[in-house]
Amino acid sequence: MTRKTILLLPGDGIGPEIVAEARKLLDWLTAQGHASFYMEEGLIGGAAYDQTGNPLPEETVIRARQADAVLLGAVGGPKWEPLPYEVRPERGLLGIRKVLDLYCNLRPAKVFPQLVDASTLKREVVDGTDIMVVRELSSGIYFGNPRGVETMDNGEKRGFNTLVYTTSEIERIAKSAFQLAMLRQKKLCSVDKANVLESTELWREVVIEVGKSFPEVALSHMYVDNAAMQLIRNPRQFDVIVTTNMFGDILSDEASMLTGSIGMLPSASLGEPFALYEPIHGSAPDIAGRGVANPLATILSVAMMCRHSLRLPDLADRIEGAVNRVLDQGLRTPDILQPGTQQVGTVAMGDAVLAALSESFS
Ligand code: NAD
Repeated sequence: MTRKTILLLPGDGIGPEIVAEARKLLDWLTAQGHASFYMEEGLIGGAAYDQTGNPLPEETVIRARQADAVLLGAVGGPKWEPLPYEVRPERGLLGIRKVLDLYCNLRPAKVFPQLVDASTLKREVVDGTDIMVVRELSSGIYFGNPRGVETMDNGEKRGFNTLVYTTSEIERIAKSAFQLAMLRQKKLCSVDKANVLESTELWREVVIEVGKSFPEVALSHMYVDNAAMQLIRNPRQFDVIVTTNMFGDILSDEASMLTGSIGMLPSASLGEPFALYEPIHGSAPDIAGRGVANPLATILSVAMMCRHSLRLPDLADRIEGAVNRVLDQGLRTPDILQPGTQQVGTVAMGDAVLAALSESFS
């Protein structure tokens, strides 16, 4: 059995609590001989700033490059908000995505049948939703230059950012999205604003060109404003959505609410050859340290890691199956609590998933 090195970056707020639950599964799988994981822990975000003065220490980057995969909790919190922009915890996260060239962000929004009534939308709208949002992650307006805030001659200030995409950047994300669509329902919707933004006019042209190599995939295009509306009007129309960094950031958070709780949604950020897995939620400072955070998004991120980086699809299926069984048992952290279900905390939820995972091997 090949040993896989996993770098854990717990980060801030609820990060250490939820990563500990994921680690419990990984340690158990190794102890039982079902896998061979070697775990390392590193610093990122506010925790890294506090210890080293840098939200992304060089040591973390070196270890991430050596690992087979990285699992991150979350970064940020009010404690670090007064800091200058360059050393804020969030710069650590953007920084690691950039240095590892993690250009492809997969954000599934799948409604678990057991949680369909936890969504703020009607059951008949969300039931059966299973969308994969493919977000470009290392370019676009969050990284484009020039950027800044300057004072003009008349004394007024002017803030500006640049939305920039090159052909090769669009080609590689489009290719990833088409490949994923081939493994799913073979439907791809590319979201842009080609009617007013030249950079996304290029986006549309290149996506169409890449699509010529994937004739089996039904490609459609949608403007982002319409996509935002269609996502809550009829989410089942979507299979795979591919879009730019900022549009994907916003649409994937919107899609998360179809599923009931942000605490359920994993993500993968893929490059070549590096990859980082993390729940889509933040550090939830309002509940940090109270033992009530939902660890399932992080545990499901481990399943994505097994599938996309570690080539262990059987383990991915087992972990997802274990989460399903725990939901069937009616166990819920407070964020997904419904009448008739049983409230548990972070550790008890992790223990229940571990028990269900262990059963899957017996
Ligand atoms: P958030 O996702 O941390 O929290 C939003 C709401 O969802 C809160 O009410 C929180 O309690 C709840 N929530 C989030 N995760 C949960 C979980 N696992 N279980 C139960 N409830 C959960 O977003 P925010 O409040 O806007 O941001 C808080 C901090 O996190 C900020 O500093 C922000 O910059 C940072 N942030 C980090 C990431 C990341 O690390 N990837 C992403 C988003 C926000």
